[in-house]
Amino acid sequence: MNKNITVLKGDGIGPEIVNEAIKVLDKVCEKYSHKFTYTEVDIGGCSIDKYGVPITKEGMEKCKSADSVLLGAVGGPKWDNVDPSIRPEKALLAVRSELGLFANLRPTKLFMQLADSSPLKPSIVGNGIDLMIVRELTGGIYFGKRRTEMLDGEKVATDEMTYSEHEIERIGRVAFETARKRSSRVASVDKANVLDSSRLWRAVMHRLADEYADVEYSDILVDNTAMQLIKNPSQFDVIVTENMFGDILSDEASMLTGSIGMMPSASLSEGTLGMYEPIHGSAPDIAGMDIANPIGTIMSCAMMLRYSFDMPREADAIEAAVNKALDDGYRTADIYKEGFKKVKCSEMGSIIAANI
Ligand code: NAD
Repeated sequence: MNKNITVLKGDGIGPEIVNEAIKVLDKVCEKYSHKFTYTEVDIGGCSIDKYGVPITKEGMEKCKSADSVLLGAVGGPKWDNVDPSIRPEKALLAVRSELGLFANLRPTKLFMQLADSSPLKPSIVGNGIDLMIVRELTGGIYFGKRRTEMLDGEKVATDEMTYSEHEIERIGRVAFETARKRSSRVASVDKANVLDSSRLWRAVMHRLADEYADVEYSDILVDNTAMQLIKNPSQFDVIVTENMFGDILSDEASMLTGSIGMMPSASLSEGTLGMYEPIHGSAPDIAGMDIANPIGTIMSCAMMLRYSFDMPREADAIEAAVNKALDDGYRTADIYKEGFKKVKCSEMGSIIAANI
């Protein structure tokens, strides 16, 4: 299969980790007879330096016309004080909105080889953690009307949380379809005991649950979910929730594994176009030192193959290659412990590529 990938390496460790991910993708092409063509586009601080904007119009068009987009990370202290309208992160929000990326998938998987990096006790993480948070990304309170006004002599601020049936249904479908490719369980998180938007959320999810009768479905309140994620995270398969609840719960969940450099993510549109990126930032403190962990970016490529290119066998091969590298004792500095083999970012990429 031929696929066009627009590559946004970005700033800080972005270029280092994306180069390793491309090494792995090239090995997948060689082994499974695919052809991936990469088009590089500047994004974030490096684009501000060259063109005065965090992404150019031409760059955005190259994202829209691609089969998928691979992102490293953007930002760094050099651009902290630029005009807010051209901050590096503005480019990310623009890409998400122009590409219609309404579904954010964040898997939280504990690699058992790294179980002692989790802040939770072995008695809790011993059964493994393998859950997927499906977060609605373009609606809810972050996109609702907001205002601050004077009422009765004091300031009053209002943020509206709005959801329409079609917005809930399309994210629900992503969750149910995702569950079918995993352990077929969906937990829908809301605050239906208080919020109207949550009651509508729940009603639409119930309609979908009837339609996807092969998927086990449950409702859970957001406050209970926050507690259950710590008490018994292995009970979850797919969690689907609205924008703000998802923002908070996905950060909570990512900490369960204890290693930010390992976690991938995918942002999906209604078609097959998606953007894939590690959850961490540009790590300016270690940029240019060849010590970053490229696994979050490499695992993001596995998600790209699974969700945008419908290549589950190739995605499995990447995940198995990462597991083998960890089984063989290779560790980048962030996950290194005595007794293991410390490797650089570029060495980890080569080892994983060789395992494909
Ligand atoms: P960060 O995720 O970049 O770094 C936090 C800590 O984790 C640092 O100590 C860093 O060295 C370490 N770390 C991160 N990724 C690592 C990896 N792959 N391997 C090893 N260690 C890793 O968060 P921050 O320091 O708060 O932000 C730095 C910059 O990144 C800021 O400009 C911020 O705005 C930006 N940022 C960008 C994105 C994005 O592009 N999606 C996301 C978050 C932050």
